[in-house]
Amino acid sequence: MMAKPENKIFLITYPDSLGANIQELHQILNTHFSKALGGVHLLPFFPSSGDRGFAPTDYSKVDNVFGTWDDVQRLAGHYRLMTDFMINHISAQSAYYQDFLALKDNSAYHDMFIRYKDFWLGGEPSAEEIERIYKRKPKAPYAIAQFADGTEEKVWCTFSDEQIDLDCSAGTTREFFKRTLAHLAEMGSSVVRLDAFAYAVKKAGTSCFFIEPEIWELLSFCADVLKPHRATILPEIHEHYSIQLKLAEKGFTVYDFALPMLLINATYYGKTTYLKNWLSICPRKQYTTLDTHDGLGVVDVRGLLPDEELDRTREDIFRYGANVKKIYNTSRYNNLDIYQINCTYYSALGNDDDAYLLSRAVQFFAPGTPQVYYVGLLAGRNDIELLEKTKEGRNINRHYYSADEVTREVERPVVQKLIRLMEFRNGHSAFDGGFELLECGDNALRVRRTNDGEFAELDADFTNKSFTIRYSGPKGTEVLVV
Ligand code: BGC
Repeated sequence: MMAKPENKIFLITYPDSLGANIQELHQILNTHFSKALGGVHLLPFFPSSGDRGFAPTDYSKVDNVFGTWDDVQRLAGHYRLMTDFMINHISAQSAYYQDFLALKDNSAYHDMFIRYKDFWLGGEPSAEEIERIYKRKPKAPYAIAQFADGTEEKVWCTFSDEQIDLDCSAGTTREFFKRTLAHLAEMGSSVVRLDAFAYAVKKAGTSCFFIEPEIWELLSFCADVLKPHRATILPEIHEHYSIQLKLAEKGFTVYDFALPMLLINATYYGKTTYLKNWLSICPRKQYTTLDTHDGLGVVDVRGLLPDEELDRTREDIFRYGANVKKIYNTSRYNNLDIYQINCTYYSALGNDDDAYLLSRAVQFFAPGTPQVYYVGLLAGRNDIELLEKTKEGRNINRHYYSADEVTREVERPVVQKLIRLMEFRNGHSAFDGGFELLECGDNALRVRRTNDGEFAELDADFTNKSFTIRYSGPKGTEVLVV
């Protein structure tokens, strides 16, 4: 497959969010966004039993509702492809787990799962040990395995009951990792996102989250499997920014999940101090985000915004944001993660075109490769109808667009302007080079990108949410008209 440029904007999308399947998605991208996008993070397209694809049953198949491997490979022929590997868990309906339930100790896969009886001293965690675990639900992380012989026991389960945790230290699991990662690369993935990787290593008596040094060995193992295929990993973790810095120090490419809240804070209150601090210290090899298929990260920005700033920003999303309520982030709406806020980025900014375009402009000038979530690509508003119909908090930001709807949405001035910005970001060589913050006042931001005599400069005013972009062009210094 032809090598595709690495530093072009990635779209994040489900296989059935822009059009009904991968073919329609591909068509839509080619029609409207071919110059605006260089890559696609295609969210899980394997058969799955829950969590919108994040409970995969079988990585060797493409769910036929979405298409075929040919469709995936065709997409990978045009756009750099990122796919997901759920390193922490697999579906309760997978052949491996089902075999374990059927044959218990005689299953060839029995050591792939973490059995409470073997893991904890005495077979159960103490109250103190449960307290220490970094949990996603208000109880010890387990599901009940009901075996064919009529017995039952607890197995480790961090997320929903359909997502059974894997024992990443077992040889059988490692073989599965190797096979699957290599397969994803062979099918066209240039980047494999290691979903929720920090939960993968467990040790009794610890938080069971980002456990060192074992976690480094696990990441290197995955990276080494992919290396001969010229593919890389993207470890996904929502936590204190210092962990992203640590990963970056070890040479891994990371996510920037801090930028979304920092930019909301800067656009709400017109002050750029915290944003500038982050831009000056953030990893250079990173994928920047404003929005993803999950909520807006709060824990990611702790320490970068002082506590009172973070609190008021979070509270004000419910005041300035359009149609967003606190209750959407509670168990009433099956919210998995209390540290994330369910809202589209456009609506978090009050559906305000200027604030939105300013935020995207900053993202595109920030160090790293930008990712734009499909709802953000269309400056999408909160989908309250889908949220209420499904009672699923994250569905507020998971609207299904038909091809016709995309054609209509693309005509909105805010989307047209966003596309022009994206095409500029992808087309100018300055973005392949250095990043510099220029001196300016507390309500402004000035960024200069330079490469081989070329430059692009962003001059942003957060008081009135306006910006100017100057760049080196064929006629000398030019001003981008968006
Ligand atoms: C994904 C979520 C998913 C979870 C479990 C996350 O980090 O982004 O969408 O629910 O992992 O797979």
